[in-house]
Amino acid sequence: MTLSWITPADRVKMLPPYVFARLDELKARAREQGLDLIDLGMGNPDGPTPQPVVDAAIEALKNPANHGYPPFEGTASFRRAITQWYHRRYDVELDSESEALPLLGSKEGLTHLAIAFINPGDLVLVPSPAYPAHFRGPLIAGGKVHSLMLKPENDWLIDLGAIPDSIAQQAKIMYFNYPSNPTAATAPREFFEDVVAFAHKHEILLVHDLCYAELAFDGYQPTSLLEIPGAKEISVEFHTLSKTYNMAGWRVGFVVGNRHVIQGLRTLKTNLDYGIFAALQSAAETALQLPDVYLHEVQNRYRTRRDFLIQGLAELGWTVPKPRATMYLWVPCPPGIGSTDFALSVLQQTGVVVTPGNAFGAAGEGYVRISLIADCDRLGEALRRLKQANICYLPAK
Ligand SMILES: *Cc1c(COP(=O)(O)O)cnc(C)c1O
Repeated sequence: MTLSWITPADRVKMLPPYVFARLDELKARAREQGLDLIDLGMGNPDGPTPQPVVDAAIEALKNPANHGYPPFEGTASFRRAITQWYHRRYDVELDSESEALPLLGSKEGLTHLAIAFINPGDLVLVPSPAYPAHFRGPLIAGGKVHSLMLKPENDWLIDLGAIPDSIAQQAKIMYFNYPSNPTAATAPREFFEDVVAFAHKHEILLVHDLCYAELAFDGYQPTSLLEIPGAKEISVEFHTLSKTYNMAGWRVGFVVGNRHVIQGLRTLKTNLDYGIFAALQSAAETALQLPDVYLHEVQNRYRTRRDFLIQGLAELGWTVPKPRATMYLWVPCPPGIGSTDFALSVLQQTGVVVTPGNAFGAAGEGYVRISLIADCDRLGEALRRLKQANICYLPAK
């Protein structure tokens, strides 16, 4: 029996195809053709989870107290570890009862926040390019997304002055993310101050994604939105353990900030899930308490790869600015070819997978994102193949 009469709801049908799913198909086809793929497409860290975290998980698994449903709002002890981490890291005071909520990864929370707060037709400000959940969440909720087009000449920062007053007045929520995926841009503290003033003036809820809080190099320390005076009144900030601690498969993230917003998200989630397996919350506490030497190792690993790849790309004609944070290079396509065509041609000719910039929104056209998720040997092999296929950057004449 077919179910030809049943179709997904409009909120699912109207979503643009998830580029990573499409890329997966193409990768599968390339593999069938016998290509040895070098996958620098997704932001999926290649390193193992730190041993102390794995050990803590094994211990916690053996404790039957962890085997039942976890508390909806996360374990008290993980929430305290989160607020202690915030205090240590940013000198920001948070109430672990009401101002911190563990999440099944931050993607889950970013999307559910939209469902909890956006009514059909509500206006949401979202940068372009952006991490897909920042615009897909609002679209699923029925919101109207107003794209804030980011530009290289503005260092990929949001130009608040370019937002028309009528739009700012209508907007209910603004998503943003620095250090940024995909552009790898960082924002100075003054930018965060300007955003907070803008949000107060126009009564906009700020949703900041600080996914790359710890993946920063050369002494740079990313700013937390909550460090800015007055921010907690109008904002929440999302974090994940996926990237810093190589825990993408564990699905652990959290949100902190305004208690009313956290309460709204918690109410929705109470109807959807039971949160993170308690044994994993216990291991996640260990991650947040790891000594700084662990962070330095991770940072060094990505910094070494960054420098190696930038140097190699320079030999092929590319001038890529050195990002001070994230695990990405944001690389212009050679003149005259679009993002999708360039990524496809690189894949077909060399087996190297990069992500077309337009996957992150229209303003990502003309770029590809390269993830630093392979060691220098593999990156070197990728560069050799590019050279052999004569793929290089020739400036427009
Ligand atoms: C990777 C990434 C996430 C997803 O994190 P999870 O906690 O694994 O869901 C969220 N935001 C940005 C900007 C990311 O790059």
